[in-house]
Amino acid sequence: MICVSISEKTNDEAIKQIRAAEKIADAIEIRLDSIEEPDLNRLINSTKPIIATNRKKGEGGNFEGSEEERISLLIEAIKNGAEYADIELSSGKQAISKLIGEKGKARIIVSYHNFTETPESLDVIIDEISSTGCDIIKIAAFANDITDNIRMFEAAKKSGKNIIALCMGEKGEISRILYKKFGSILTYSIMEKGKETAPGQITIQLMKNLYRADKLNKETQILGTIGKPAKYSRSIFMFNPVYEKLKLNKVHLKFEVDNLAKFLSEIKKLKPAGFAVTTPYKEEVLKHLDEIDETAREIGAVNTIVVKDNKLIGYNTDGIGAKRAIQEKTVLEGKNIVIIGAGGAAKAVSYVLSKENCNLRILNRTVEKAKEIAKKAGCEYGSLNDLGNFDLLLNCTSVGMSPNESETPIEKKHLKGIVMDIVYKPIMTTLLKEAKEQRCETIDGISMLLHQGIEQYRLWMGIEPPIELMRESLWKSLSEKQ
Ligand code: NAP
Repeated sequence: MICVSISEKTNDEAIKQIRAAEKIADAIEIRLDSIEEPDLNRLINSTKPIIATNRKKGEGGNFEGSEEERISLLIEAIKNGAEYADIELSSGKQAISKLIGEKGKARIIVSYHNFTETPESLDVIIDEISSTGCDIIKIAAFANDITDNIRMFEAAKKSGKNIIALCMGEKGEISRILYKKFGSILTYSIMEKGKETAPGQITIQLMKNLYRADKLNKETQILGTIGKPAKYSRSIFMFNPVYEKLKLNKVHLKFEVDNLAKFLSEIKKLKPAGFAVTTPYKEEVLKHLDEIDETAREIGAVNTIVVKDNKLIGYNTDGIGAKRAIQEKTVLEGKNIVIIGAGGAAKAVSYVLSKENCNLRILNRTVEKAKEIAKKAGCEYGSLNDLGNFDLLLNCTSVGMSPNESETPIEKKHLKGIVMDIVYKPIMTTLLKEAKEQRCETIDGISMLLHQGIEQYRLWMGIEPPIELMRESLWKSLSEKQ
């Protein structure tokens, strides 16, 4: 069940939200503690099951009255037809027993919240909640590290009871999406951003329409983007709609990782199928892999991991992504290509293009770095002032990337032929805008992003990628500005 949490100040506002939520949610949690003088008769009147919650301060709530008043309001909610009532473990045995004694047909959730950490003693807490005689155990703890989710997952699995086990905060997002894999009977979400009742909640639209959280199950294969930050990854929009359309029991997540070694070892417990790797881990990840494909080894960076027989195998699809993006517009043969930049992306792109029948030149602010990768690619190098003649100019620096959108690596007057920018945030960089003004043909960074993703799909799935479906999904997400 996906439950929408509603926390409004007035009865009218809450009822408006309940009407909207019942169109999409499976259950609705009403946070009585946020409503001034809750009108239970009007509030607990929905086509969907209602969870009545009346949080005290210190457990993330706003209830100002006495403990007795707080529990009485929950009992009243049950009498008004609430299908569930949530009471905190910290309310004490007496209060919990009182509520259970008055529950009638309702089911009682006894909940534990920890807003600072995911404690080591999850099993002990679960046992303590279970001993209250509740119908449903709820444990929600803040994730300071992505691997806290795995501990939560293991504790929930062991409990063998009706449980809601989740991690809060941005790093806990995966436990909310994978609630069925975690063995939870429900997950909480919100109607819109800004309406969170606990840290890390995401909208029901993302939960249902993007991640299909309600359709995932224990067998769902996990993939995801490892990064820091991972939250800007567009891969979730490129891959998840494809899994839905092709009815594949897979999900692509975002993994906000602080400790790469710990993450890679712990995540294996969820039997993942593969990962995309982004900044800052493309080089660091090499030392944690069991095998590295030759191209990735030559480049010295990995942006894709395939998990096979519990082994991590590294690949690099950035270079081929750029090559395919160029080939969509023109042929490489005989072209004079200037690559600007000598960072990770430039390394991958120059290595792959050096295998083609074209002439490369690598220019960089720090000339030493250009010299290093030019040696590998067997081509010329220079400073940003050595532009010379070219047919295709390829920006592989981060210049012009948001928030420095007004910057450009090369003055407008020098632009000619074909100009490609691998920066994709924004899509229309100043470099590309000025290139268009100079009547150049342009290739944007989204084309490379798409093609490197297509190659990732091929590696993970071992089948021909649905290119047009992936293109459509990626562009749809960009137009919707998610
Ligand atoms: P990186 O390793 O940090 O390299 C950054 C490069 O930019 C270096 O060559 C650096 O020059 C240069 N640079 C930075 N600031 C500069 C400035 N003010 N003036 C001149 N040069 C400057 O980054 P990366 O991983 O290669 O990524 C570069 C860009 O490509 C990022 O915007 C990234 O998002 C994008 N990217 C796009 C795709 C895609 O699929 N479209 C894939 C990968 C990366 P120095 O060596 O002198 O510091």
